Amino acid sequence: MSAENDFEKLMRNLIPPQPARRKRPGFAAMGPDYACLLCPCGGDTLHHGKVDVYWRVEDSALATQTTVVPAGALTMRTDGKGNPSSRRGGMTIAFWCEHCDQTNVLEISQHKGSTLVNWNLSLAKPGDSGNRGD
Ligand SMILES: [Zn+2]
Repeated sequence: MSAENDFEKLMRNLIPPQPARRKRPGFAAMGPDYACLLCPCGGDTLHHGKVDVYWRVEDSALATQTTVVPAGALTMRTDGKGNPSSRRGGMTIAFWCEHCDQTNVLEISQHKGSTLVNWNLSLAKPGDSGNRGD
């Protein structure tokens, strides 16, 4: 075995493989009536933070947006930027994870009569980003 292969083997043992981050939300059973939302890393210790709710008539250029943070809430008419639904209403909830120390955004959006739920992994930030509101 070459010295380079020994080095690679050492590094594999020092750096544990990172769990695959999933866009589709996962849940862990918490008894017959509850499920525990899992972080994209698989961790089950999430704390919700900033919440944005978008109400929009289908295809309207304007939305009513309510933002809730630990300091309070604000409702205003906006251009809907940040709305996860391309044509209707939706909401986003930031969650900070104790396990991976990332803040991820859960998106809930209306799409052709269905309600879609996903993690927007492109919005992930390290730490709680001041959004922690648990
Ligand atoms: Zn996590």
